Amino acid sequence: MTKSFMPDFKSAEELQAHQLKGLKWTVDHAYNGSSFYKAKLDEAGVQPGDINSLADIRKLPFTTADDLRDGYPFPLLSVPASEVVRIHASSGTTGKKKVLTYTQKDIDDWTHFFARSYEMAGLTREDRVQIAVGYGVWTAGVSFQAGCEKFGAMALPVGPGNVDMQCQFLVDLGSTVMCCTASMALLMAEEIERRNLRDKIALKKMIFGSERSSAAMRRRIKDLLGLEDMFDIPGMTELYGPGTGLDCACHEGIHYWADYYILEILDPETFEPVPEGQPGEMVVTTLCKEAAPLIRYRTHDLTRMIGRPCSCGSILPMHDRILGRSDDMIIFKAVNIYPGQIDEVLSSVPGIGSEYQVQLDRGTDGKDTMTLRVEREHDALASGAEDLSQGIVREIKNNIMVTCMVDIVDYGALPRSERKSKRIYDNRMG
Ligand code: ZN
Repeated sequence: MTKSFMPDFKSAEELQAHQLKGLKWTVDHAYNGSSFYKAKLDEAGVQPGDINSLADIRKLPFTTADDLRDGYPFPLLSVPASEVVRIHASSGTTGKKKVLTYTQKDIDDWTHFFARSYEMAGLTREDRVQIAVGYGVWTAGVSFQAGCEKFGAMALPVGPGNVDMQCQFLVDLGSTVMCCTASMALLMAEEIERRNLRDKIALKKMIFGSERSSAAMRRRIKDLLGLEDMFDIPGMTELYGPGTGLDCACHEGIHYWADYYILEILDPETFEPVPEGQPGEMVVTTLCKEAAPLIRYRTHDLTRMIGRPCSCGSILPMHDRILGRSDDMIIFKAVNIYPGQIDEVLSSVPGIGSEYQVQLDRGTDGKDTMTLRVEREHDALASGAEDLSQGIVREIKNNIMVTCMVDIVDYGALPRSERKSKRIYDNRMG
Protein backbone atom coordinates (compact mmCIF):
# COMPACT_ATOMS: atom_id res chain seq x y z
CA MET A 1 0.00 0.00 0.00
CA THR A 2 1.27 3.46 -0.78
CA LYS A 3 2.12 5.87 1.99
CA SER A 4 -0.72 8.09 3.17
CA PHE A 5 -0.28 11.69 4.23
CA MET A 6 -3.62 11.86 6.01
CA PRO A 7 -3.60 12.18 9.81
CA ASP A 8 -4.24 8.93 11.66
CA PHE A 9 -6.73 10.38 14.16
CA LYS A 10 -9.76 8.20 14.67
CA SER A 11 -11.94 10.70 16.50
CA ALA A 12 -12.52 14.41 16.98
CA GLU A 13 -11.31 14.00 20.58
CA GLU A 14 -7.94 12.72 19.41
CA LEU A 15 -7.63 15.63 17.03
CA GLN A 16 -8.50 18.09 19.81
CA ALA A 17 -5.93 16.54 22.14
CA HIS A 18 -3.33 16.97 19.40
CA GLN A 19 -4.43 20.60 18.92
CA LEU A 20 -4.16 21.39 22.63
CA LYS A 21 -0.67 19.93 22.76
CA GLY A 22 0.32 22.02 19.72
CA LEU A 23 -1.27 25.17 21.12
CA LYS A 24 0.60 24.83 24.41
CA TRP A 25 3.84 24.16 22.57
CA THR A 26 3.34 27.18 20.28
CA VAL A 27 2.61 29.65 23.07
CA ASP A 28 5.56 28.41 25.09
CA HIS A 29 7.88 28.42 22.07
CA ALA A 30 6.83 31.90 20.91
CA TYR A 31 7.02 33.38 24.42
CA ASN A 32 10.49 32.05 25.03
CA GLY A 33 11.83 32.48 21.51
CA SER A 34 10.56 35.87 20.43
CA SER A 35 10.82 39.20 22.25
CA PHE A 36 7.87 40.40 20.17
CA TYR A 37 5.58 37.61 21.37
CA LYS A 38 6.89 37.84 24.94
CA ALA A 39 6.02 41.54 25.09
CA LYS A 40 2.64 40.95 23.46
CA LEU A 41 1.67 38.14 25.82
CA ASP A 42 2.97 39.99 28.88
CA GLU A 43 0.90 42.99 27.87
CA ALA A 44 -2.19 40.79 27.55
CA GLY A 45 -1.40 39.23 30.93
CA VAL A 46 -1.11 35.68 29.56
CA GLN A 47 1.69 33.29 30.38
CA PRO A 48 2.35 29.98 28.61
CA GLY A 49 1.15 28.11 31.72
CA ASP A 50 -2.30 29.71 31.39
CA ILE A 51 -3.18 27.58 28.36
CA ASN A 52 -4.86 24.46 29.68
CA SER A 53 -7.72 23.90 27.26
CA LEU A 54 -8.54 24.76 23.66
CA ALA A 55 -11.00 27.37 24.94
CA ASP A 56 -8.04 29.19 26.51
CA ILE A 57 -7.03 30.28 23.01
CA ARG A 58 -9.43 33.16 23.60
CA LYS A 59 -7.13 34.55 26.29
CA LEU A 60 -4.46 35.10 23.66
CA PRO A 61 -3.97 38.43 21.89
CA PHE A 62 -4.29 38.75 18.10
CA THR A 63 -1.40 39.08 15.70
CA THR A 64 -1.93 41.30 12.67
CA ALA A 65 -0.38 42.16 9.33
CA ASP A 66 0.89 45.38 10.98
CA ASP A 67 2.91 43.27 13.41
CA LEU A 68 4.53 41.59 10.41
CA ARG A 69 5.40 44.91 8.83
CA ASP A 70 6.72 46.36 12.10
CA GLY A 71 8.97 43.37 12.59
CA TYR A 72 10.57 43.68 9.12
CA PRO A 73 12.77 42.04 7.92
CA PHE A 74 12.21 38.92 10.07
CA PRO A 75 8.91 39.36 11.91
CA LEU A 76 7.75 36.85 14.54
CA LEU A 77 11.14 35.12 14.42
CA SER A 78 11.11 32.68 17.31
CA VAL A 79 14.30 30.66 16.65
CA PRO A 80 17.94 31.77 16.29
CA ALA A 81 18.52 33.04 12.73
CA SER A 82 21.07 30.24 12.24
CA GLU A 83 18.19 27.73 12.29
CA VAL A 84 16.41 29.42 9.40
CA VAL A 85 16.99 27.58 6.13
CA ARG A 86 14.77 29.61 3.80
CA ILE A 87 12.65 32.73 3.51
CA HIS A 88 9.64 33.54 1.38
CA ALA A 89 7.95 36.87 0.83
CA SER A 90 4.41 37.76 -0.06
CA SER A 91 3.39 40.04 -2.87
CA GLY A 92 2.39 43.01 -0.73
CA THR A 93 0.59 45.84 -2.49
CA THR A 94 2.55 48.75 -1.07
CA GLY A 95 5.76 49.32 0.83
CA LYS A 96 7.77 46.51 2.34
CA LYS A 97 7.01 42.88 1.66
CA LYS A 98 6.00 40.47 4.37
CA VAL A 99 9.00 38.20 4.82
CA LEU A 100 8.44 34.82 6.49
CA THR A 101 11.14 32.47 7.75
CA TYR A 102 11.25 28.66 7.76
CA THR A 103 13.30 26.08 9.62
CA GLN A 104 14.02 22.72 8.01
CA LYS A 105 11.19 21.22 10.06
CA ASP A 106 8.80 23.92 8.83
CA ILE A 107 9.72 23.04 5.25
CA ASP A 108 9.31 19.31 5.97
CA ASP A 109 5.90 19.85 7.59
CA TRP A 110 4.73 22.03 4.71
CA THR A 111 5.93 19.46 2.17
CA HIS A 112 4.15 16.69 4.06
CA PHE A 113 0.78 18.41 4.16
CA PHE A 114 1.16 19.60 0.57
CA ALA A 115 1.56 15.96 -0.43
CA ARG A 116 -1.72 15.43 1.46
CA SER A 117 -3.39 17.97 -0.85
CA TYR A 118 -2.42 15.86 -3.86
CA GLU A 119 -3.63 12.74 -2.06
CA MET A 120 -6.96 14.38 -1.31
CA ALA A 121 -7.28 15.36 -4.98
CA GLY A 122 -7.09 11.64 -5.75
CA LEU A 123 -3.73 11.65 -7.53
CA THR A 124 -1.60 8.50 -7.80
CA ARG A 125 2.11 8.03 -8.28
CA GLU A 126 1.39 7.50 -11.99
CA ASP A 127 0.28 11.11 -12.34
CA ARG A 128 2.41 13.72 -14.10
CA VAL A 129 1.96 17.14 -12.58
CA GLN A 130 2.66 20.19 -14.71
CA ILE A 131 3.40 23.03 -12.30
CA ALA A 132 2.60 26.34 -13.96
CA VAL A 133 2.79 28.67 -10.96
CA GLY A 134 5.46 31.21 -10.02
CA TYR A 135 8.87 30.20 -8.72
CA GLY A 136 11.25 32.39 -6.74
CA VAL A 137 10.58 34.35 -3.59
CA TRP A 138 6.88 33.51 -3.72
CA THR A 139 5.74 30.42 -1.87
CA ALA A 140 4.00 28.77 -4.79
CA GLY A 141 6.28 26.94 -7.24
CA VAL A 142 8.71 25.34 -4.85
CA SER A 143 5.96 24.00 -2.56
CA PHE A 144 3.84 22.58 -5.40
CA GLN A 145 6.97 20.81 -6.59
CA ALA A 146 8.27 19.56 -3.25
CA GLY A 147 4.79 18.29 -2.30
CA CYS A 148 4.48 16.48 -5.63
CA GLU A 149 7.87 14.79 -5.29
CA LYS A 150 7.12 13.79 -1.70
CA PHE A 151 3.79 12.36 -2.82
CA GLY A 152 5.64 10.40 -5.46
CA ALA A 153 4.10 11.74 -8.66
CA MET A 154 6.21 13.18 -11.49
CA ALA A 155 6.76 16.95 -11.22
CA LEU A 156 7.10 19.01 -14.40
CA PRO A 157 8.21 22.41 -13.11
CA VAL A 158 7.41 24.64 -16.09
CA GLY A 159 6.52 27.81 -14.15
CA PRO A 160 3.88 30.32 -15.25
CA GLY A 161 3.29 31.67 -18.76
CA ASN A 162 5.17 30.23 -21.74
CA VAL A 163 2.08 28.81 -23.44
CA ASP A 164 4.09 27.11 -26.20
CA MET A 165 6.11 25.07 -23.74
CA GLN A 166 3.00 24.32 -21.67
CA CYS A 167 1.28 22.91 -24.76
CA GLN A 168 4.36 21.01 -25.85
CA PHE A 169 4.73 19.34 -22.43
CA LEU A 170 1.02 18.53 -22.26
CA VAL A 171 1.29 16.72 -25.60
CA ASP A 172 4.79 15.21 -25.48
CA LEU A 173 5.13 14.40 -21.77
CA GLY A 174 1.51 13.44 -21.17
CA SER A 175 0.82 15.61 -18.12
CA THR A 176 -2.31 14.42 -16.33
CA VAL A 177 -2.57 17.22 -13.78
CA MET A 178 -1.92 20.93 -14.12
CA CYS A 179 -1.48 23.43 -11.29
CA CYS A 180 -2.03 27.09 -12.13
CA THR A 181 -4.31 30.05 -11.50
CA ALA A 182 -7.85 29.80 -12.85
CA SER A 183 -7.11 32.63 -15.31
CA MET A 184 -4.12 30.72 -16.66
CA ALA A 185 -6.30 27.59 -16.89
CA LEU A 186 -8.85 29.42 -19.00
CA LEU A 187 -6.11 30.75 -21.24
CA MET A 188 -4.66 27.25 -21.65
CA ALA A 189 -8.09 25.74 -22.32
CA GLU A 190 -8.77 28.23 -25.09
CA GLU A 191 -5.30 27.78 -26.53
CA ILE A 192 -5.66 23.98 -26.59
CA GLU A 193 -9.00 24.39 -28.35
CA ARG A 194 -7.50 26.84 -30.87
CA ARG A 195 -4.56 24.53 -31.60
CA ASN A 196 -6.79 21.47 -31.85
CA LEU A 197 -4.82 19.59 -29.21
CA ARG A 198 -7.63 18.25 -27.09
CA ASP A 199 -7.31 14.69 -28.48
CA LYS A 200 -3.54 14.73 -28.09
CA ILE A 201 -3.39 15.53 -24.37
CA ALA A 202 -4.02 13.39 -21.28
CA LEU A 203 -5.00 16.13 -18.83
CA LYS A 204 -7.53 14.94 -16.23
CA LYS A 205 -7.35 17.34 -13.31
CA MET A 206 -6.49 20.92 -12.52
CA ILE A 207 -5.59 22.47 -9.19
CA PHE A 208 -6.18 26.21 -8.87
CA GLY A 209 -4.22 28.35 -6.46
CA SER A 210 -4.31 31.95 -5.33
CA GLU A 211 -7.47 33.39 -6.85
CA ARG A 212 -11.19 32.91 -6.67
CA SER A 213 -12.68 31.36 -9.78
CA SER A 214 -16.30 31.92 -10.75
CA ALA A 215 -18.59 28.97 -11.42
CA ALA A 216 -18.98 30.06 -15.05
CA MET A 217 -15.22 30.16 -15.55
CA ARG A 218 -14.78 26.70 -14.05
CA ARG A 219 -17.52 25.24 -16.24
CA ARG A 220 -15.88 26.64 -19.35
CA ILE A 221 -12.44 25.29 -18.42
CA LYS A 222 -13.87 21.86 -17.63
CA ASP A 223 -15.85 21.68 -20.88
CA LEU A 224 -13.05 22.88 -23.14
CA LEU A 225 -10.54 20.43 -21.68
CA GLY A 226 -12.90 17.54 -20.88
CA LEU A 227 -11.52 17.40 -17.34
CA GLU A 228 -12.54 14.88 -14.71
CA ASP A 229 -12.23 17.29 -11.83
CA MET A 230 -10.91 20.64 -10.59
CA PHE A 231 -9.80 21.66 -7.10
CA ASP A 232 -9.15 24.85 -5.16
CA ILE A 233 -6.03 24.89 -3.05
CA PRO A 234 -5.97 27.60 -0.36
CA GLY A 235 -2.89 29.18 1.12
CA MET A 236 -1.19 32.34 2.34
CA THR A 237 2.47 33.08 2.90
CA GLU A 238 2.01 33.78 6.61
CA LEU A 239 0.62 30.25 7.04
CA TYR A 240 3.48 28.42 5.26
CA GLY A 241 2.06 29.04 1.74
CA PRO A 242 -0.27 27.07 -0.54
CA GLY A 243 -1.41 23.57 0.34
CA THR A 244 -3.03 24.20 3.73
CA GLY A 245 -6.22 22.46 2.60
CA LEU A 246 -8.19 21.25 -0.41
CA ASP A 247 -11.77 20.71 -1.46
CA CYS A 248 -12.01 16.96 -1.98
CA ALA A 249 -13.75 15.24 -4.90
CA CYS A 250 -17.12 15.62 -3.13
CA HIS A 251 -16.75 19.43 -3.30
CA GLU A 252 -18.78 20.04 -0.15
CA GLY A 253 -16.27 22.50 1.29
CA ILE A 254 -12.54 23.00 1.72
CA HIS A 255 -10.98 20.50 4.10
CA TYR A 256 -8.31 22.26 6.14
CA TRP A 257 -5.41 20.69 7.98
CA ALA A 258 -6.62 21.07 11.56
CA ASP A 259 -3.65 19.03 12.78
CA TYR A 260 -1.34 21.86 11.66
CA TYR A 261 -3.39 24.92 12.62
CA ILE A 262 -6.45 25.99 14.54
CA LEU A 263 -9.00 27.97 12.57
CA GLU A 264 -11.34 30.34 14.39
CA ILE A 265 -14.15 32.14 12.58
CA LEU A 266 -14.77 35.40 14.43
CA ASP A 267 -17.03 38.41 14.11
CA PRO A 268 -14.60 41.09 12.88
CA GLU A 269 -16.36 43.75 14.98
CA THR A 270 -16.68 41.99 18.32
CA PHE A 271 -14.04 39.24 17.93
CA GLU A 272 -16.55 36.77 19.35
CA PRO A 273 -16.97 33.42 17.58
CA VAL A 274 -19.83 33.57 15.07
CA PRO A 275 -22.56 30.91 15.21
CA GLU A 276 -21.67 27.92 13.07
CA GLY A 277 -22.51 28.48 9.43
CA GLN A 278 -22.38 32.28 9.73
CA PRO A 279 -19.61 34.14 7.92
CA GLY A 280 -16.76 35.67 9.85
CA GLU A 281 -13.05 36.40 9.69
CA MET A 282 -10.55 33.53 9.54
CA VAL A 283 -8.10 33.72 12.44
CA VAL A 284 -5.33 31.11 12.46
CA THR A 285 -3.00 29.73 15.12
CA THR A 286 -0.25 27.33 14.08
CA LEU A 287 0.47 24.19 16.08
CA CYS A 288 4.08 23.31 15.19
CA LYS A 289 5.51 26.19 13.14
CA GLU A 290 8.98 26.98 14.48
CA ALA A 291 10.56 29.96 12.76
CA ALA A 292 7.51 32.25 12.52
CA PRO A 293 4.65 30.81 14.57
CA LEU A 294 1.25 32.46 14.28
CA ILE A 295 -0.85 33.19 17.34
CA ARG A 296 -4.40 34.21 16.42
CA TYR A 297 -3.30 35.80 13.19
CA ARG A 298 -6.07 37.91 11.64
CA THR A 299 -6.22 37.01 7.96
CA HIS A 300 -9.07 39.44 7.12
CA ASP A 301 -10.41 36.71 4.83
CA LEU A 302 -14.04 35.81 5.32
CA THR A 303 -15.56 32.39 5.21
CA ARG A 304 -17.89 30.19 7.22
CA MET A 305 -17.34 26.91 8.97
CA ILE A 306 -19.14 23.90 7.51
CA GLY A 307 -20.34 21.90 10.48
CA ARG A 308 -21.50 18.69 8.86
CA PRO A 309 -19.01 15.96 8.01
CA CYS A 310 -18.09 15.50 4.35
CA SER A 311 -19.49 12.57 2.38
CA CYS A 312 -15.90 11.47 1.72
CA GLY A 313 -15.67 10.44 5.37
CA SER A 314 -12.54 12.48 6.18
CA ILE A 315 -12.14 13.56 9.78
CA LEU A 316 -10.61 16.83 8.61
CA PRO A 317 -13.06 19.72 9.11
CA MET A 318 -14.18 22.05 6.33
CA HIS A 319 -14.60 25.75 5.74
CA ASP A 320 -16.43 27.34 2.84
CA ARG A 321 -14.81 29.17 -0.06
CA ILE A 322 -13.49 32.66 0.67
CA LEU A 323 -16.35 35.15 0.62
CA GLY A 324 -14.27 38.31 0.58
CA ARG A 325 -12.35 40.58 2.93
CA SER A 326 -13.56 41.66 6.36
CA ASP A 327 -12.71 45.28 5.50
CA ASP A 328 -15.64 45.19 3.08
CA MET A 329 -18.20 44.21 5.70
CA ILE A 330 -21.35 46.29 6.20
CA ILE A 331 -23.75 46.16 9.13
CA PHE A 332 -27.41 46.46 8.23
CA LYS A 333 -30.08 46.12 10.92
CA ALA A 334 -27.58 44.36 13.18
CA VAL A 335 -26.73 41.78 10.50
CA ASN A 336 -23.16 41.57 9.21
CA ILE A 337 -23.22 41.42 5.43
CA TYR A 338 -20.33 40.85 3.07
CA PRO A 339 -20.35 41.70 -0.62
CA GLY A 340 -19.30 38.11 -1.34
CA GLN A 341 -22.57 36.84 0.16
CA ILE A 342 -24.65 39.10 -2.07
CA ASP A 343 -22.51 37.98 -4.99
CA GLU A 344 -23.22 34.38 -4.09
CA VAL A 345 -27.00 34.88 -3.88
CA LEU A 346 -27.22 36.88 -7.10
CA SER A 347 -25.17 34.35 -9.05
CA SER A 348 -27.84 31.75 -8.25
CA VAL A 349 -30.65 33.86 -9.76
CA PRO A 350 -31.23 33.34 -13.49
CA GLY A 351 -31.95 36.31 -15.74
CA ILE A 352 -29.55 38.86 -14.28
CA GLY A 353 -26.09 40.04 -15.30
CA SER A 354 -22.95 40.10 -13.21
CA GLU A 355 -23.13 43.78 -12.23
CA TYR A 356 -24.89 45.12 -9.14
CA GLN A 357 -24.73 47.85 -6.51
CA VAL A 358 -25.84 47.90 -2.91
CA GLN A 359 -27.23 51.18 -1.62
CA LEU A 360 -27.80 51.77 2.08
CA ASP A 361 -29.93 54.74 3.15
CA ARG A 362 -31.40 56.08 6.36
CA GLY A 363 -34.94 57.53 6.16
CA THR A 364 -36.21 60.55 8.11
CA ASP A 365 -37.84 58.08 10.48
CA GLY A 366 -34.36 56.75 11.32
CA LYS A 367 -35.00 53.42 9.61
CA ASP A 368 -32.34 51.95 7.38
CA THR A 369 -33.11 50.59 3.95
CA MET A 370 -31.08 48.50 1.57
CA THR A 371 -31.60 48.73 -2.18
CA LEU A 372 -29.96 46.40 -4.65
CA ARG A 373 -29.54 47.79 -8.13
CA VAL A 374 -29.14 44.79 -10.40
CA GLU A 375 -28.62 44.67 -14.15
CA ARG A 376 -30.89 42.40 -16.13
CA GLU A 377 -29.18 39.93 -18.41
CA HIS A 378 -27.99 41.01 -21.82
CA ASP A 379 -30.98 40.75 -24.26
CA ALA A 380 -33.51 40.22 -21.44
CA LEU A 381 -36.90 41.92 -21.76
CA ALA A 382 -37.86 44.72 -19.39
CA SER A 383 -41.31 43.16 -18.86
CA GLY A 384 -40.09 40.46 -16.48
CA ALA A 385 -38.62 42.94 -14.01
CA GLU A 386 -41.33 42.56 -11.36
CA ASP A 387 -40.94 38.77 -11.08
CA LEU A 388 -37.19 39.09 -11.18
CA SER A 389 -37.00 41.57 -8.33
CA GLN A 390 -39.43 39.57 -6.19
CA GLY A 391 -37.26 36.52 -6.74
CA ILE A 392 -34.14 38.39 -5.63
CA VAL A 393 -35.88 39.83 -2.54
CA ARG A 394 -36.89 36.28 -1.59
CA GLU A 395 -33.43 34.80 -2.13
CA ILE A 396 -31.75 37.60 -0.12
CA LYS A 397 -34.26 37.10 2.68
CA ASN A 398 -33.72 33.34 2.70
CA ASN A 399 -29.95 33.47 2.59
CA ILE A 400 -28.91 36.66 4.37
CA MET A 401 -31.99 37.17 6.59
CA VAL A 402 -32.59 40.79 5.65
CA THR A 403 -35.32 42.47 3.65
CA CYS A 404 -34.16 44.59 0.76
CA MET A 405 -35.62 46.48 -2.17
CA VAL A 406 -34.56 45.62 -5.69
CA ASP A 407 -34.23 47.94 -8.62
CA ILE A 408 -33.72 46.12 -11.94
CA VAL A 409 -31.81 48.27 -14.43
CA ASP A 410 -30.88 47.78 -18.08
CA TYR A 411 -27.85 45.78 -19.09
CA GLY A 412 -24.87 48.15 -19.19
CA ALA A 413 -26.51 50.78 -16.96
CA LEU A 414 -24.08 50.32 -14.07
CA PRO A 415 -20.51 51.61 -14.37
CA ARG A 416 -17.73 49.19 -15.38
CA SER A 417 -14.28 49.34 -13.94
CA GLU A 418 -11.07 47.67 -15.03
CA ARG A 419 -10.11 47.60 -11.39
CA LYS A 420 -12.27 46.30 -8.59
CA SER A 421 -15.80 47.69 -9.03
CA LYS A 422 -17.30 49.73 -6.20
CA ARG A 423 -20.37 47.82 -5.09
CA ILE A 424 -21.36 49.26 -1.74
CA TYR A 425 -22.74 52.79 -1.36
CA ASP A 426 -23.40 53.53 2.30
CA ASN A 427 -25.32 56.79 2.50
CA ARG A 428 -26.29 56.44 6.15
CA MET A 429 -25.05 59.08 8.57
CA GLY A 430 -22.88 58.18 11.53
ZN1 ZN B 1 -14.39 15.47 1.67
